[in-house]
Amino acid sequence: MRGSTPVSGPDTVEFGGNTPCLEIRCGERLFVLDAGSGLGAFGRECTGPLPQDIDLLFSHLHLDHTAGLPFFKPAVFDAGRTIRTYCGNLDGACAGEALGRMFAPPLFPITLDVLPCRLEHHGFKAGEPLVFADGSRVDTILLNHPQGSVGYRFEHAGKRLCVISDIEHTDPWPDPSLRAFVEGADLLVYDGMFTESEYPRCCGWGHSTWQKGVELAKAADAKALAIIHLHPAHSDAQLRAVEAEMQAAMPTAFIARERQCVELGASRAAPAASRALRPQLTLAHSA
Ligand SMILES: [Zn+2]
Ligand SMILES: [Zn+2]
Repeated sequence: MRGSTPVSGPDTVEFGGNTPCLEIRCGERLFVLDAGSGLGAFGRECTGPLPQDIDLLFSHLHLDHTAGLPFFKPAVFDAGRTIRTYCGNLDGACAGEALGRMFAPPLFPITLDVLPCRLEHHGFKAGEPLVFADGSRVDTILLNHPQGSVGYRFEHAGKRLCVISDIEHTDPWPDPSLRAFVEGADLLVYDGMFTESEYPRCCGWGHSTWQKGVELAKAADAKALAIIHLHPAHSDAQLRAVEAEMQAAMPTAFIARERQCVELGASRAAPAASRALRPQLTLAHSA
């Protein structure tokens, strides 16, 4: 998943050019995390049926995480469908007002209320758990980013997935509360937009490095690390070199490819779990 702005061209074929959208399946349960340009591609290419009600969790509302919303066509053109958005970085305010400002003439030809689907916007305060009508629960944490961002922790069938983006690391690092939040993750997904050599020029922009991701993953005993929110100017060749360097430090770390599907597998505590019950992260169309 690309950060900040989508890119295309021969140098970004392998890692992809869409901005963040993660399809997270916990058994039959779907969560969509972020509505970057990848959301349109998810809608066009998703092979399984989409649920009637879709829970869309925002890390935050910057353009690279929201601009794909009206292009999620199988959902927004279905009058029988409800899309519930969850926004936790605005001190309890929901995303409705901000999205209304973005999707309105002259910046956008229509307002979202003319779409056939029903949009329901929910606000919460990062740090509060999200508990859904079906009983499923997702934990949240506030991240260091301009206007804040929300990190999410998904647990299903004994597996733990933590998505921590967008974030700028702090000093000292790892931050103790963040380390506790991601402790023991089977997969930690982390904002590695910059390399350590690039970072000093981009201090305060709200993003981190793969090295800080490895430090956090090791301190928290995370089993694997996926780097997302890739710099728009980083080519496939550069990213492959970065990945090799990172894997020398942490062999189970990797840079997420667009459309990459990661299955976290059945829990040791649930030996008879069927394939359908396995938690699955589909890094659908990159952040
Ligand atoms: Zn971003
Ligand atoms: Zn941002």
